[in-house]
Amino acid sequence: MASDFPRLVSKAHLPMRTPRAPRETRSPGLEPLAVLPVFVTLDGKRAVLAGANGGAAWKVKLLAAAGAHVDVFATEPTEEMRGTPAEAVAGRVVLHERDWSPADLEGAAFAIAAFEDEGECACFVGAARAAGAIVNAIDRPHLCDVSFGAIVNRSPLVVGISTEGAAPVFGQTVRARIEAMLPSGFKAWVAAARDWRAEVSARYHAFAERRAFWERFTDRAFAEPERAPVRADLDALIAASDTAPAGGNVALVGAGPGDAELLTLKALRALRSADVILYDDLVAPEILDYARREARTMLVGKTGHGPSCRQDDINALMVSLARSGKRVVRLKSGDPLVFGRAGEEIDACRDAGIPVTVVPGVTAAQGAAAALGVSLTHRDAARRLQYVTGHDRRGALPDDLNWAALADPTVTTVVYMPKRTLRALLARAVAEGLPAATPALVVFNATRPDQAVVRAEAGDLANRVEAAGLEGPAIVMVGNALGREAQAEAILAEALPAAGRAGL
Ligand code: SAH
Repeated sequence: MASDFPRLVSKAHLPMRTPRAPRETRSPGLEPLAVLPVFVTLDGKRAVLAGANGGAAWKVKLLAAAGAHVDVFATEPTEEMRGTPAEAVAGRVVLHERDWSPADLEGAAFAIAAFEDEGECACFVGAARAAGAIVNAIDRPHLCDVSFGAIVNRSPLVVGISTEGAAPVFGQTVRARIEAMLPSGFKAWVAAARDWRAEVSARYHAFAERRAFWERFTDRAFAEPERAPVRADLDALIAASDTAPAGGNVALVGAGPGDAELLTLKALRALRSADVILYDDLVAPEILDYARREARTMLVGKTGHGPSCRQDDINALMVSLARSGKRVVRLKSGDPLVFGRAGEEIDACRDAGIPVTVVPGVTAAQGAAAALGVSLTHRDAARRLQYVTGHDRRGALPDDLNWAALADPTVTTVVYMPKRTLRALLARAVAEGLPAATPALVVFNATRPDQAVVRAEAGDLANRVEAAGLEGPAIVMVGNALGREAQAEAILAEALPAAGRAGL
């Protein structure tokens, strides 16, 4: 908003901050689902496939692989269908070289129509439904109760992928990615979980204890995915769980500047195991989509201006939740240790004897620099990099900024929370000796879909930003290294059509 950049900044004109209370937030619920993924148990059940179109042989293999006893009815089976029983599925498939009849469907849990002819297909589907089977008709989505997706098989771990028929090749590519991501050893780990489940449940009656055990188990599997688990692993995991402290803890977690793909794996793990997540306004909403579904989420809004929760209230809430045994994630934008008041929160935890850890995040400056493709320390342009705040405790320009350092032509300066004081800050830096023509820019909403950049010389940046009237979190960067970025962009401009640079 243009008014975020007032021409004159004086403490007397600063608005009173209205305190606000931490507020429990609800996840917005599910977006509409194109299809409901469910997994059908067919082991030992009866399945029927009739017809012999191109997809038939593969479907027979799938049904048999899922443990079904498959009766296949085809007057003219393909070579591949004849080959199926001998090749893959030892005795589970019986091929009947004749037409199907309704009596053949009795007791079938699953039925697949594989006819070229629509009428025959519809007739079979009707009979199969009447017999109580779940029905699929190959290449005829309008006749199907269920459809087959692409599969990643680490049984008992199974991943199904659907594009609802919209983009099968896309689905296959997603499948290939997931294949590459899931070590083949997961098969053995998930099988071990199945085998040990009863013993673990008998040992740990409390839900929280059981969950803690299975989290340790999963950590171990992810740490050594290719090693087959053995009985000694179970014993070691039980020993570790029995000695682990039962109390809660706090993790200060960096959410990054917005783009969820910039979350670290550790941050993801923390979000996945949190009981409660206390987050700031600046945390992008899509980050919370990565949280454990059952986690409580609370907005403890702290913005640069506007209503804020008191830091003492946040500290007290964090400590009391952890004391009651919860795993608390204090989720902060960017990196928690950069202008995040993390020091106060860490102290509050330590004073209360609560275990506290920090998971770093990508700070706004790094997100913005990466999005711009600019080196903040280019050796021809900068000897030093400094991050300064544009706000003091009251939201005014800090009196004690090092102005000589800000005027240094060999430094790249990044200003966090610059909005209210940008004009005054740059005017003072220029008065202290920063050349007014020094390259400068503001990045709004760095790494988010609405990222926008305003560039100017340092002496003119405040005017340009005011004229642009943009909204959202913003950081300012000043220094000759940014001039190199403008050059790089000029080169890009020649090399690429305008559309290719959109969003830069
Ligand atoms: N811990 C955060 C900084 C919190 S202070 C970090 O490491 O990035 C809040 C300030 O961060 C905002 O006023 C703004 O200056 C900056 N900021 C946070 N996210 C931003 C984003 N996506 N784009 C631009 N600036 C951002």
